[in-house]
Amino acid sequence: SKQRGRNRFLFFDSEMGAEASERNQLEVELMRALEKREFVLYFQPRYDLRSNQVVSAEALVRWRHPVRGLVMPGKFIPICEETGIIEELGQFVLEEGCNQAIEWHRRGLDIGLSINVSPRQFSGDKLMETLRAFSQRPDFPNGYVELEITETALIGDLEMIAQKLRAITDLGFRIAIDDFGTGYSNLSYITRFPLNCLKIDKSFVDQLPDTIPIIQLILTMAAQIGVTTVAEGVETAEQIEQLAVSGCEQVQGYYFTKPVPLEAFEETTRRLNEN
Ligand code: C2E
Ligand code: CA
Ligand code: CA
Ligand code: CA
Repeated sequence: SKQRGRNRFLFFDSEMGAEASERNQLEVELMRALEKREFVLYFQPRYDLRSNQVVSAEALVRWRHPVRGLVMPGKFIPICEETGIIEELGQFVLEEGCNQAIEWHRRGLDIGLSINVSPRQFSGDKLMETLRAFSQRPDFPNGYVELEITETALIGDLEMIAQKLRAITDLGFRIAIDDFGTGYSNLSYITRFPLNCLKIDKSFVDQLPDTIPIIQLILTMAAQIGVTTVAEGVETAEQIEQLAVSGCEQVQGYYFTKPVPLEAFEETTRRLNEN
């Protein structure tokens, strides 16, 4: 076998040819995986602290690699973003996610779905086309599908971005800011863009109770502009208690469950909603 440690994608070496660059080879591997439908959505519940119900799910992609087993997104999303494959992968995730939301709605389940949209996918032109197509379906659940976008996707021509976000919300999709509080951009976008939700980054939850002032600041701001708040990466009852007291509306994290395949998600949701 080849020498180890050159880069983090080394585990692909066994399937790499000699001539093409590593990146091209990984690209081929990822494209093959897309064609073979090796990517699959896992789901993690978002729990509402006032109704004590699961209100939605976040779709998180995994790669079921035939040899390597389950590969986590941290291992392939960055390279997908660099190579542009993210547009294809993101498209797959978006279609799978919207179809799942439609299916839940058809079954009468009152549950939303959040889908991660990468910066490159957000700025590409395929996104709007797909959103428009889904919004035109008669069975599309208006207001039930949310796009999670990081602040880094919102840098550039602010007027153009605002227009795009408005077009997306006009089609009946919600917009959440993912990892809120970790970007270093000018906060003024908060009032300029049509937003529905702020997801408070896990790093603030990890450092509770030290971060209570920051979390309260975010919650106050969110209330002012009328958006929902979700705290991410909640692992303990103590954290939930502190977040609830501060007025955070929703929480998501291993405390309830890790992201799991569809059937396990539905099972867990039933159990959580009974308690
Ligand atoms: P993210 O969107 O911030 O997703 C939250 C991540 O935190 C997920 O990791 C989730 O499993 C993890 N997490 C949730 N609760 C807890 C907790 O209580 N403790 C800890 N330690 N972790 C928790 P995951 O699934 O590995 O995804 C990592 C990142 O990969 C995501 O961060 C997102 O940026 C990206 N990603 C995942 N799926 C997709 C996708 O379909 N499209 C795009 N563009 N990016 C995706
Ligand atoms: Ca997310
Ligand atoms: Ca996040
Ligand atoms: Ca993140």
